[in-house]
Amino acid sequence: MNPDSEEDDDWTKYADTGYTSSYDPWADMVPATELEEEEFDEEFEEFDDEHSTRRDIPRCPAPSGIENAIRIGTCNHCLGRVAGVRIAGDPLQIVGERVREKALERDSDLKVDEETDCCPFCEDLFRELDLIANRIVTAVGGVEFTKVQLGIHFSKDHVAAEEVLRSTLAATGSRPLKATLSDAIQSTVAEKLPGITWVKERPEIMLLFDTLTLGVNADIRALFLYGRYRKLERGIPQTRWPCRACRGRDGGCESCNGTGQQYPFSIQSLVCEPMVESSGASSDAFHGMGREDIDVRCLGDGRPFVAELKSPLRRTLDLEKLTKSINKAAENQIEIHGLRLSNRAEVSRIKETKAEKSYTIRFNGDHGFTDEEVSTRIQSLSGKVLEQQTPQRVAHRRADKIRKRKVVSIDNILIEDDEIQFDVRCESGTYVKELVHSDEGRTNPSVAALLETDCEVILLDVKDIHAD
Ligand SMILES: [Zn+2]
Ligand SMILES: [Zn+2]
Repeated sequence: MNPDSEEDDDWTKYADTGYTSSYDPWADMVPATELEEEEFDEEFEEFDDEHSTRRDIPRCPAPSGIENAIRIGTCNHCLGRVAGVRIAGDPLQIVGERVREKALERDSDLKVDEETDCCPFCEDLFRELDLIANRIVTAVGGVEFTKVQLGIHFSKDHVAAEEVLRSTLAATGSRPLKATLSDAIQSTVAEKLPGITWVKERPEIMLLFDTLTLGVNADIRALFLYGRYRKLERGIPQTRWPCRACRGRDGGCESCNGTGQQYPFSIQSLVCEPMVESSGASSDAFHGMGREDIDVRCLGDGRPFVAELKSPLRRTLDLEKLTKSINKAAENQIEIHGLRLSNRAEVSRIKETKAEKSYTIRFNGDHGFTDEEVSTRIQSLSGKVLEQQTPQRVAHRRADKIRKRKVVSIDNILIEDDEIQFDVRCESGTYVKELVHSDEGRTNPSVAALLETDCEVILLDVKDIHAD
């Protein structure tokens, strides 16, 4: 019984009648308030009466306590739960049935009060077990999963009312409603879906059951796949990039050929689209361990990534086959390897990893030095700490500040007249192009300053990412 329900009904009528006519929300305010106060007092007295009566009734498992529980309409499930009679191994409704039979043997006149319209403990939720289980089975239909978790949402009023009732009528130590209902739903569903496991953490499906609407919501948790990608061709961004003109809305525009994308491919689209197809996912997200510029290749062992496949219908994927089909479709563009199952925690791990990186950089500079002198000057950067003011090219999206990054080593210096190339290993977050051209003096020291000339970067490749 909800003490507020009458008040709610009154308010609904009051609002409905007022709505169509010229409605003055303040007109009835004074009488309405007075009425409410009177009603409240009456209800409060009734509530108190109920309590004092209950105090005179012995609690379960006393026979008169059990008889009272039956009289007020307690269902077999709840009777099995609150009677305080333990019959090892038997389901609650069977225990309840026996308790009821015994009580009827003692007093054949015992019957349920006529005013009772549902079990006062569970509000007849246990009678709906089959319906609830069927709704769950429907909600997860067509989804591959084994680990599932159940959450139940009760109205606060129901939980509070049940607790009061249990503390006054039930045997000491009776299990709470929520835990009992949860167990009952789980075993009913398990009969219909053999092979599933109910878990308390990291489910593949999170079910939420609402006791008020009997509605079931199934949240299919994402599937995460870890791998490394090598980017073999320049001009491919790491993630999808909506068209600048139409922002990807309304099916694209003329400048993006109706794709909604600024670039026809991205690492994300090349890697994730075959994954979405084979898993039946609804969408994807791509998490890389850092990213290279669009015009930079990524070679060596490649860059670690985690692909997140949302709401997948299938989880058992042939990763070897998937790798092959991704690599075949993206031939000469990208290549992935080392695909394995991952999890959300690994997304944070790769996002937070500050891996040193090696680059190959090639540039043009009209210097006046001998090859030996050029080599010595570039080599002198090895072990130096750079001071890098936020580059002009990223200033629109990053705060203007000075970063300190260490050049770990310099190798393989190659000098072909004005074209010079070298490998550099440096700390995560180093602006490598700026290390060469100095960004008008914003990076210090720099190759341009050491060679006393302007330097123009011709190409840059990520040679390796030094992560596990
Ligand atoms: Zn019940
Ligand atoms: Zn467009």
